[in-house]
Amino acid sequence: MQATTDHERRCYCGKLYQTISSLGRHSRGCPASSGDCKGFLQLLAYLEPRPVPGDLFHRALSPFRKWNENGNELRERPFQLPGVFSDEGRLDKAIKDAIDAHAVLVTIGSSVPDADQGPWWAYRNFELPEPSRTFIRNSLESLDGTCGQLDAMRLVFHGFPIPDLDTSFVEKGNALLPFVVPLLYKLPVDKLLVSELPSTIEVCISISHFGDHDTKSNALAVAQTLADRIAPSPLDFSIGLRRLTLSLVGGQAVSISLSPGPDRKGNSQRAEALLFRAQQSVELGHVSEAWKLVGQWTPFHAAQPSSLETIMSSRLDYMKGKLRRFQGNFEAARQYFEPLSSQYPPTRVQFSSRLHLIAVYAELGLWEKAQTVADRIEVVSGRQRRLYRLAQAELFLSRALCGFEDDLASAKGLFADIVSEYEGLVPFGRTMRRNFFRACFGLAVIGHLQRQGQTLFGALGSLSGWELAYRASRECLVVAEGFPDLVCHLSMAQVQCSVSGQSGPPLERAKQIWAALSSQGLEQRFCFTNLGTRWVDMVSEWLESSGCPRIVSHWGGPANKNE
Ligand SMILES: [Zn+2]
Repeated sequence: MQATTDHERRCYCGKLYQTISSLGRHSRGCPASSGDCKGFLQLLAYLEPRPVPGDLFHRALSPFRKWNENGNELRERPFQLPGVFSDEGRLDKAIKDAIDAHAVLVTIGSSVPDADQGPWWAYRNFELPEPSRTFIRNSLESLDGTCGQLDAMRLVFHGFPIPDLDTSFVEKGNALLPFVVPLLYKLPVDKLLVSELPSTIEVCISISHFGDHDTKSNALAVAQTLADRIAPSPLDFSIGLRRLTLSLVGGQAVSISLSPGPDRKGNSQRAEALLFRAQQSVELGHVSEAWKLVGQWTPFHAAQPSSLETIMSSRLDYMKGKLRRFQGNFEAARQYFEPLSSQYPPTRVQFSSRLHLIAVYAELGLWEKAQTVADRIEVVSGRQRRLYRLAQAELFLSRALCGFEDDLASAKGLFADIVSEYEGLVPFGRTMRRNFFRACFGLAVIGHLQRQGQTLFGALGSLSGWELAYRASRECLVVAEGFPDLVCHLSMAQVQCSVSGQSGPPLERAKQIWAALSSQGLEQRFCFTNLGTRWVDMVSEWLESSGCPRIVSHWGGPANKNE
């Protein structure tokens, strides 16, 4: 009698038998031995990390959504998935068979949010016991070394969201990122079908919105390798633009020399490029220049914009609202943010528009409207929750500065929490550092306001708050000192003035920064940090009443050389 190995005597359900014939008798009645169930379990054996959210399998049933060359949504099945994913009934049965045969460990709660009202198993997590996992991988690899790997990659890529097509793009992308990262490093590039390449590249570009810098650049490197196989590819533009964006975020100076195509999709790409250049201008403190850029774009056929063009219009309007806010033109900013905040279906920029609108209403003294917008916000992730709390804290502070003193305590509690949350996130990029600065700034303002009497001790506490805020501002990855630094120094000068009657070095420093901003015609007023106007006005008035000449003039327009 021929000797058999363990894996020849194991069923897909995990049970081990003494002989091949006893295994055979079992298998005939075992639900896990059906072709579809095997297909499901084979995929599960290759997915990492474990457990795997059922939503990922559910997403495989719907077509893959991408943009076509006209900038409209295209639904297709570019990835060759195993047959069990072609039909909900088949997949449903396969999963139930796997559960009936005790082949999988099932846990409550999908790690992917927003399963879109899928079947119950879309809200569960699945995992193979280790012996089954090893057995299935061994038996597959004795047939073909890469097929399991390839199918797993296809499934995850099929499920990964494309920008502007999934309303929860950021949340879904973040949830699926851990499954994509291990695949990126061992993508069987040469085994992919040519017909799968364009969608694979799109997903790689999409992945480059997530994770740390290395993950992002690795995703783009894979995209480039694949694009080279079908060069010239219409996706070259998108890859190039993402590269430039990553460099810009990394604080590098970049120049854009990409030429989008002449068609409708090219027109959307042109909008992307304009947005990129506008953002770059803002980072350099040239708000008016950014304004001119975003005014240059119109849809290909103005009366009939494509879906992608409609999205680009929203994103341009969002940028216009931000620029108006940065310029201190709050009425104009409101005109852009109000429609974006209430649009249905919600746009990608809706959440951020609402946050801006809260601050704009606060500047206009429309407190009830500001709170109504805040109350309407729904947060679906930790990131959104942090941003929402920051906006709410700033609203409380804004109210406190306008005489609603009871709000000061609420603001203080929130800011203190937010500072400690963002402190741990500072290594994760510029946006985190900027938000950390906003929270430190809020706390410094509150410390300043709550300073007991004119004691030296109170002054020292207040100054250390401003030192902290200033240090956080310097870490925002902006090379030159700008408006936030100026406000920190003005505040320090005021503290010193109130104790000793002399504003000292901080005022001189503030003057220097203002002179530098003015000489370059820069408009770094609210940029980066979204600081409100009230605090700087208050501090300037206090300083003026102690005999210091006013440094920062009225709001709106560029810093004036004559002032
Ligand atoms: Zn079995």
